[in-house]
Amino acid sequence: MSNTSAKSWIEVPAKSDFPLQNIPFGIIKSDKHSPRVASIIGNTVIDLAALNHLGYFKGLNIPQNVLVNKSLNNFIALGKAVTTKVRQRLIDLFSENNSELNDNSEHKNTVLVNIAKVENLMPVEVGDYTDFYSSMEHATNVGKMFRDPANALLPNWKHLPVGYHGRASSIFVSGTNFHRPKGQIKPPDAELPTFGPTKLLDFELEMAFIIGKENKLGESISTSQAEEYIFGMVLFNDWSARDIQAWEYVPLGPFLAKNFFSSVSPWVVTLEALEPFRIQGPVQNPKVLPYLEYTGNKNYDIQLDVFIQPENGEENKVCHSNFKYMYWNMCQQLAHHTINGCNVRIGDMMASGTISGPSEDSFGSMLEITWRGAKPVKLKDGSERKFINDNDTVTIRGYAEKDELRIGFGEVKNKALPAI
Ligand code: MN
Repeated sequence: MSNTSAKSWIEVPAKSDFPLQNIPFGIIKSDKHSPRVASIIGNTVIDLAALNHLGYFKGLNIPQNVLVNKSLNNFIALGKAVTTKVRQRLIDLFSENNSELNDNSEHKNTVLVNIAKVENLMPVEVGDYTDFYSSMEHATNVGKMFRDPANALLPNWKHLPVGYHGRASSIFVSGTNFHRPKGQIKPPDAELPTFGPTKLLDFELEMAFIIGKENKLGESISTSQAEEYIFGMVLFNDWSARDIQAWEYVPLGPFLAKNFFSSVSPWVVTLEALEPFRIQGPVQNPKVLPYLEYTGNKNYDIQLDVFIQPENGEENKVCHSNFKYMYWNMCQQLAHHTINGCNVRIGDMMASGTISGPSEDSFGSMLEITWRGAKPVKLKDGSERKFINDNDTVTIRGYAEKDELRIGFGEVKNKALPAI
């Protein structure tokens, strides 16, 4: 599918993230809909369970309970051979010259619903969650602040995509609010730790890919096979508590500073939809080991913005970054993750790590934007932020844009409520 100018008979507002060429997948529910698999064009949600029931996926033999379902896992498990056909069928069915459904107002009433009338649920059931650390600019900034400016990157960093196993149970969909976490904090000048709410609540601008095919225990996935195993991508906010992190992370890495809450955008954008936005990644020097070598363009040009909105205030853009800055690409991350025989499962989520770019306005966390609080950000209402205040709403938006084609991710938006 490369027809970038094809139009849908469904209205698509200018700058919509969801033109005919996107067709992401998600889970919706409403008073009239039990949880089910859906897609979206413009502001119109498409009920795939209803389409299947009415016979529009004839020949694809999709069991109805795969689509009347509270997660995409069973749908993804049909395999790309089926899910890409579903996506192609939707592109055909909703193309402006196709009257098959457009001429049937009764069917249209059953299948289509305005986004305002439904709720998005968590799109996948996440079995395991991994967070990488693959932006060189981010790792360099953090290394400069916390260790040694002259040797900001640790010796392993350019040889392997550093990562850690996070917690899946506390990943929620956009729109979920959470309370400021409490924990042990030890200021640098204090002798003993104290207990209390984090003073340094932060976001991390990330994207995550979702596993779409399983390998067996003991089998590795090569960089050239990796894309078959990736169903699609979402925006990811890896909420963090910097003071808790600084005290607890030695020697085993992040724990309670990260697992209190993470959030994702509701629509999973497929790799197929992102195909026009492939781009070359940064040159990797020193040369990587053979199992991490790859060919072709494995990075994607996806623009990413972060906004802070105070209670009753306006949104303030605090960061403009891009997924293309990733030093390690998703194929290398997955090849590394499985090189020891680790098995991945459908619905597993692999986050990128904070995506910072080279300039100060492209840093992907408050830690870096304010340089650990040394350079506060001024908001439109005159207030300042070093980190995230109570009742601030943080929103990440992302989209790829080229030749008048815009493939977007929507947003992931959460409000930080006071500690309880
Ligand atoms: Mn992270």
